[in-house]
Amino acid sequence: MAVRVLILGGSFGGLTAARELRRRLGPERVEITLIARDPRFTFIPSLPWVALGSRTLDQISFDLARPLLAEQSTFAHETVLGIDGDRKVVSTDRAEHAYDFLVVATGHRSANEAVPGLGPGDGPGHSPMSPPETEELAAAVRGLLENPGPVVVGAAPGASCIGPAYELAFGLDHLLRRRRLRHLVPITFVTPEPFLGHLGMGGAGKIRQLLEGALEERDIAYRTSSAITRISAAAVEVEGVGPIPSVVSIVIPPLGGVAAVASSPGLANPKGFVAVDSLYRHPRLDGVYAVGVAVAMAPADETTVPVNFPKTGHMTEQMAVIAARDIVARVGGRDGKPAELSSHCVMDMGDRGVYMAVDPVRPPRNRIPAVSEGRRWRLVKLGFERAYLWSARHGHRLPTALGW
Ligand SMILES: Cc1cc2nc3c(=O)[nH]c(=O)nc-3n(C[C@H](O)[C@H](O)[C@H](O)COP(=O)(O)OP(=O)(O)OC[C@H]3O[C@@H](n4cnc5c(N)ncnc54)[C@H](O)[C@@H]3O)c2cc1C
Repeated sequence: MAVRVLILGGSFGGLTAARELRRRLGPERVEITLIARDPRFTFIPSLPWVALGSRTLDQISFDLARPLLAEQSTFAHETVLGIDGDRKVVSTDRAEHAYDFLVVATGHRSANEAVPGLGPGDGPGHSPMSPPETEELAAAVRGLLENPGPVVVGAAPGASCIGPAYELAFGLDHLLRRRRLRHLVPITFVTPEPFLGHLGMGGAGKIRQLLEGALEERDIAYRTSSAITRISAAAVEVEGVGPIPSVVSIVIPPLGGVAAVASSPGLANPKGFVAVDSLYRHPRLDGVYAVGVAVAMAPADETTVPVNFPKTGHMTEQMAVIAARDIVARVGGRDGKPAELSSHCVMDMGDRGVYMAVDPVRPPRNRIPAVSEGRRWRLVKLGFERAYLWSARHGHRLPTALGW
């Protein structure tokens, strides 16, 4: 009888786990059901481009159902409400699903409530953490081009996904310079990081010096070890500094696990993230795995203002491959192999890019981090987006070693 694998989430973690499993075990060995709240896969790393008007959401997303069907997996467009790890059952808004193995890849919930005024919805602040929030941010950016004024871009205390804040600061600067409006828009970058380029992973080689130089060159003021405490329609309040004028405030929030995971008994920590071992297995619940942003990870170091450990798309795919291979090994009566996570990424700066490779992600590292800046890296990022979307839509997986 085929083993039942249930995958929660249809993004980098969920899709990669489904593909790796199917690549190794046919439908007669494993029955794969992927449940996701959103019927489409969105290439989240391109959301900053949607915010700045160079992409639409349609251009960076596709329906999940077709490629999954082609792989002989089942797609269930449902919202998970709870996970009973003792009974091995997942409840959704439509059904109950029993499983032998479960992969939780439900990503994050934006804890916008951590900073009063951080919207959208709850206040005037903006964030690029999801497609609807990004569309709302894109409207605010269009408004800024009509009515220029000061801007704050940054991250709230406890944030872990800080790279997109840098991309948005550089991207906005570039857009405004192209429109010859930059002289009307003072930009301030405010971050909880103890130094620029810490990125929640303790920094990486020469990235600090590079980012300091790049922000200074572009007249973007910056404040590190700073705690944003409130956002209003006209300013961003920073502890110990006071209000910084801002008519469009873009602030990355701290993250938590999604409600269904956070509220399932015995599954997650108080923030709603799932603790896992080196094979991404839950330490107590048999057959349960978690990958991607849903996973609990300790901060890299202690900082004056809290900064959490990043979980990039590239890292998410590696976790999903390790978990899927462990499931395959267990089906065959063996155990899988753990591996350290590395990360390759390209940060877009509007007119050029910065490539960064860390191995492993958490210091101390076996290799001196590679950091390189140039126009070619922006072209690499543009090409990678196209190649990734084409492959994922047609049921292929780019080797994670390619990086992004
Ligand atoms: C603006 C931005 C830019 C980024 N840029 C980069 C980059 O350049 N490079 C990089 O490597 N990483 C980047 N990242 C990080 C990367 O996007 C994440 O690491 C990645 O999306 C994590 O994938 P995931 O599968 O864990 O979760 P997510 O992508 O968050 O997906 C979660 C999935 O779970 C589903 N889901 C959630 N709740 C439920 C529920 N209750 N029931 C059913 N389904 C549910 C959702 O529908 C979705 O399919 C960026 C992130 C952001 C926000």
